[in-house]
Formats: sequence, structure tokens, C-alpha cells
Amino acid sequence: RVPGRTATPTELDEETSMPAHAPRVLTGDRPTGALHLGHYFGSLQNRVRLQAEGAELFVVVADYQVLTDRDVAHRLAERVEELVLDYLAVGIDGERAVIFTHSAVPALNQLLLPFLSLVSAAELRRNPTVKDEISHSRQSAVSGLMLTYPVHQAADILFCKARLVPVGQDQLPHLEATRTIARRFNARYLSGGSPVFPEPEALLSAMPLLLGTDGTKMSKSRGNAIALGATEDETAALLKGARTDTERRITFDPQHRPEVSSLLQLAALCQGRDPHAVAEEIGDAGASRLKAVVTEAVNEYFRPIRRRRAELAGDRAHLRAVLAAGNARANAVADVTLVQVAEAMGMRY
Ligand code: ATP
Ligand code: MG
Repeated sequence: RVPGRTATPTELDEETSMPAHAPRVLTGDRPTGALHLGHYFGSLQNRVRLQAEGAELFVVVADYQVLTDRDVAHRLAERVEELVLDYLAVGIDGERAVIFTHSAVPALNQLLLPFLSLVSAAELRRNPTVKDEISHSRQSAVSGLMLTYPVHQAADILFCKARLVPVGQDQLPHLEATRTIARRFNARYLSGGSPVFPEPEALLSAMPLLLGTDGTKMSKSRGNAIALGATEDETAALLKGARTDTERRITFDPQHRPEVSSLLQLAALCQGRDPHAVAEEIGDAGASRLKAVVTEAVNEYFRPIRRRRAELAGDRAHLRAVLAAGNARANAVADVTLVQVAEAMGMRY
């Protein structure tokens, strides 16, 4: 870089071939099933917006982390491809974004050891999201991988020195753990006199916790989700079976009527309206009318995304190429960070 010259967002870093000064955003998903409306309004929409604003977007497909709450990761190759397909369908740019799998970047696992040394066993046991995931787990016993989930996630975030992490509400305790790990690492070790890691911030959306058809957090693995790629008929059928309450009059009251309110919010997000206004319009027409309104709103909003998804689905080679390019770029970035970490820890022999 020429000294004294202001970097433009397109200026490339010599070592990593990445833009040198764009704000870096990292986020990701486990390949445990199709992405759903909760992902869209909880995180994907923000990713696309940040990308449009010039952010440099990293998206980790957290494949090792599938094994946190189950003994075997099923149909991984297929599910990883489906995730890439969902990303591209919602508007993540496969050329600009770095979409990669955790397993393809060995440096992430190497960061895990120093990071583990910075947290106590009691802190790991106290994490509320880990506790919630343990209660829904399909594992016979709580594994070390489950307990250390927030620490591998810290490696996934910190390796690229992300500043911003667009996530749903369930991820806030993990993000706090990442910030703690960054802070403790910097307090204990310096690389060339300067701290290695920034403290990243969580970015919550307007809908950080969309409920599923059973009234609990919409989740890929809980059988309560409406997939982004669902057909219009499937969407109608799933919403028809959604849990509501017995009160005929529809009102927006998230505290006392979480299921009805989550449905209202979903319609409101799709239509760019206020959920109170949607409720008022339905009035005494009851839950069946509410479900019909939500179905129409969702199908209308997602029609172009679903069309694009169907178009892209035919080209599997393209999906794999996007991933291969992302893996190569993530490795280049991770290797640079790993050298800094080794330097800071006195491990450059
Ligand atoms: P699983 O059930 O397998 O854990 P999941 O649906 O919880 O799947 P994750 O891959 O764990 O999905 O989460 C990916 C991202 O999507 C995280 O940032 C998470 O906070 C966000 N997210 C997931 N579900 C919701 C939801 N219902 N509302 C808002 N955000 C969500
Ligand atoms: Mg989850």
C-alpha cells in the first residue's frame, strides 16, 4: 500500500486479496436443514442489506457444529449445497461474499485451543443458549463439543476479525462469549505491541425471535419451520396447522399472546406494515382469517426469492464453485490471523 494514501473499499490487502477497509461482517448457519422464515427475518435480510451497503460478508456453514446436539451429521453434502442455494436465492452475492465451511478451514480448529484456555468450565456450563440446546438435544449425553460450542463459534467469528455479527436472539450469549474471549486474549497477549482481535458486536434484526408453528422458536431441527423454499401450498398447510389461542378477536400483544403476535409480525414484515394495523384489519374474524392473511403475505413476499431459488437449484456445479472459492479465501484470511496469534503467544519458532 502506498503510505499516506487513503484506502478505498476496493483496495486489496496484499496477503489475503481481500478488500482492505470494508467493514467486515460474519455470520453463519448449521447445515441441519433448509433455511426458514426465522433465518430470513432474523439474520439473512440484514446480511443482504449490509452487503448492499458495502460490507465485506463472510458466511460460515458450521458443519462441525452439527455434531453439538446429535451423534451423527446426516446428509451433510446435500444440506451444505442447499444452504448455499438459500444464500444465493435471498440475494447474498456468491462472487463477493466469502461463503465457506468450517471443516475446510483447519486454522479455525487451531484457534480453539488458545481460546479454550481463556474460559472457565463453569462459564461454559452457565451459558443459557447451551442449556436450551442441551434440553432439545438428541444426544444421549452432553458432549464436550456441545459445551464448547460458544468457543468454536468465537473462532469462526474472530479468525476474520469481524466487527458485526447479524444474528437472532438465541445467539446473544454466544456473542458475549466471543467478546469476552477477544478481550481476554488481547489482555494476555499482544502481537507486535497491538491487540490481535476486535470485539465484535451482535446485530439484531427487527424480528430476532420468530416463533414456529408450535409456538416455540422456529428451528430447522424442531419440525416447526416454514422453509424459504417451501411451495405456496406447503406454506398454506403449515400455517393452517400453526398454534394460536382460543380468543376470537385478534390483537397484537407479544407478551400475553406470543403465537398470534408472531404471526401478525410475520405478515407485517412481509407487507412492510405495523402489526397493530394488521390485527385491527382482521378484528373479530379469528385465527383462520389471520392464517389466511399471513399465508398470502408470505407467499407474495417470497415469490421472487422462491423463483430465483428454483432457477439456481439446477446448477449444482455453480453452488460447489461458490463454496470452493469461499473456502480458499477464508483459508487465506485465517492463515494470516493464525500467524499473528502464534506470534503473540511466542510460538513462532
Ligand atoms: P437448529 O434447530 O438446527 O439449531 P436453527 O433454526 O436454530 O437450527 P441455526 O443454524 O442454529 O438455525 O441459526 C442460524 C442463525 O439464524 C442464527 O443467527 C440464529 O440466531 C438465527 N435464527 C434461527 N432461528 C431463528 C428464529 N426463529 N428467529 C430469528 N432468528 C433465528
Ligand atoms: Mg440453532
